[in-house]
Amino acid sequence: MTLSIRPDLDDLPVYVPGKTFPGAIKLASNEVTEGPLPSVRDAIAEAASNANRYPDNGMVALTGELAKSLGVTEDEIQVGCGSVTLCQNLITITAQVGDEVLFGWRSFETYPLATRVAGATPVQIPLTEDLVYDLDAMAAAITDRTRLIFVCNANNPTGTVVDAADLVAFLRKVPSHIIVALDEAYFEYNRLTPEQAYDAIELRKEFPNLVVLRTFSKAYGLAGLRVGYAVADPTVITALGKVHIPFSVNSLAQSAAVACLAAGDELLARTDAVVAERERMTAELRTLGYRVPDSQTNFVWIELGDDTTEFAAACVAAGVVIRPFAGDGARVTVTHRQENDAFLAFARRWAARG
Ligand SMILES: *Cc1c(COP(=O)(O)O)cnc(C)c1O
Repeated sequence: MTLSIRPDLDDLPVYVPGKTFPGAIKLASNEVTEGPLPSVRDAIAEAASNANRYPDNGMVALTGELAKSLGVTEDEIQVGCGSVTLCQNLITITAQVGDEVLFGWRSFETYPLATRVAGATPVQIPLTEDLVYDLDAMAAAITDRTRLIFVCNANNPTGTVVDAADLVAFLRKVPSHIIVALDEAYFEYNRLTPEQAYDAIELRKEFPNLVVLRTFSKAYGLAGLRVGYAVADPTVITALGKVHIPFSVNSLAQSAAVACLAAGDELLARTDAVVAERERMTAELRTLGYRVPDSQTNFVWIELGDDTTEFAAACVAAGVVIRPFAGDGARVTVTHRQENDAFLAFARRWAARG
């Protein structure tokens, strides 16, 4: 029996969950190690006791708090079931079969997959030698079929950022009808140099086609509850609202995110420790001879080429789960000293192997 399933889905990869085991140190998914703050746990527990009710499909409380904290209006915000869903929904509102979605590569794995699920065509522009988005090459790749452009800044999995002047020059080159999605999932971990520094919310005034994507999954530590948001022109928000899967941002997620914003100072203060550890790991890995670009995220990228798969397997055998990208390198989440040291101990042994 052959069921009528779209044949173009045949060669999409099947999702394989990351390997893990009891006691594993999990440095594969850019999560924070600490559980939610007590105030956030309380908010989740309170929402749980109302789980018989549908969530607020307008996500009014969270949208209001986000608007206040970002200095934008509520009609410029769309909350989604993780910013992954907002990436997918941006593709849905812009691209149809035959249309092109442009982004750098290697970059966030969702972009090509979600593009192909929509029946559109991914156009992947290699990163520069320095593993940074090649904005000149991307501008040159825009065609009359281009409907959406992702700029992942900082880039997952390389951790690198573009220079601000290059970003602005790029935005000036993009035809004003094409949406540019600036994926800032690691925004709270950015410690940008003067050359790199920009304010995406401010840039939207000059570029109304700019959409900013952020998430509660990383610095706010809510990866398991699935909540992210887009800041965009109201026309974009209206369209995103039309394709939003009803009630997909559950009530626990909404309440937890509001509580996280209320505890923002405390949660964001934690990013300083991660940033210090990131600098320590980067320096140490370089001393051991690894090629590691400067990271503006809560992970580091190690260029390993053809050794990647073997390196990652040996690392898992040593009790530390990391994320390999075969043929290119490995992404290692930065958490706290003890966990990071477990990875560094492995990296030291690997570098010293015969
Ligand atoms: C983690 C991540 C996201 C956020 O994913 P959620 O769906 O919000 O958990 C988005 N973009 C990039 C590049 C990421 O690394």
